[in-house]
Amino acid sequence: MTRLVIAIDGPAASGKGTLARRLATHFNLPHLDTGLLYRATASALLDEGRPLDDVEAAVVAARGLSLTDFDDQRLRAREMGEAASVVAALPEVRAELIDLQRRFARNGEGAVLDGRDIGTVICPDASVKIFVTASAEKRAQRRALELARRGERADYQSILADVKKRDERDSARSVAPLKPAGDATTLDTSELDIEGAFRAALAIVEKARQ
Ligand code: C5P
Repeated sequence: MTRLVIAIDGPAASGKGTLARRLATHFNLPHLDTGLLYRATASALLDEGRPLDDVEAAVVAARGLSLTDFDDQRLRAREMGEAASVVAALPEVRAELIDLQRRFARNGEGAVLDGRDIGTVICPDASVKIFVTASAEKRAQRRALELARRGERADYQSILADVKKRDERDSARSVAPLKPAGDATTLDTSELDIEGAFRAALAIVEKARQ
């Protein structure tokens, strides 16, 4: 069977992580949430009391990452997403993390990776590229629900402001900005529930494999 590498990109809280996990389970492939790499790098800097723009320390932290020892719960906290987007704008940090991600994508039967630059930089030859998006308002609503479920404070207006700020920073940076690859299929999930989004993503993958 030919290898299947699925690249999923999109802005914060677009639902790309949920879709990537569902697709990985469906095709029995390993999944890498690449946002965790940037979150873990930011978390290491904060733990050491260093500023987020300390390039040298950030590169050392990124180099020391291992895919198996992420404290998901802590890394997924709201402030860590914001901190991650600051270190993710450092070209040296991105360069340091490229190999790790490409090695993951090269293994075995294939892989599903989600992030911001998977289709454009990490896996330009992916079998399928999906750019998942939704309106900022819908994404903020979903994030507020998710945080409330986890017992975190979830004020809609401030979450909406966060989402917009992160979109702006991720799209405006000079290296690997958030944008669809030329050969990606865009999937707008604004009006879809999780099941509907999964079915639409599956149809995109099946079509690309024909
Ligand atoms: O996807 P997630 O919200 O976990 O990503 C956190 C931050 O990490 C993003 O806002 C983005 O700045 C950065 N990121 C990135 N490239 C990726 C994945 C995440 O720049 N491939």
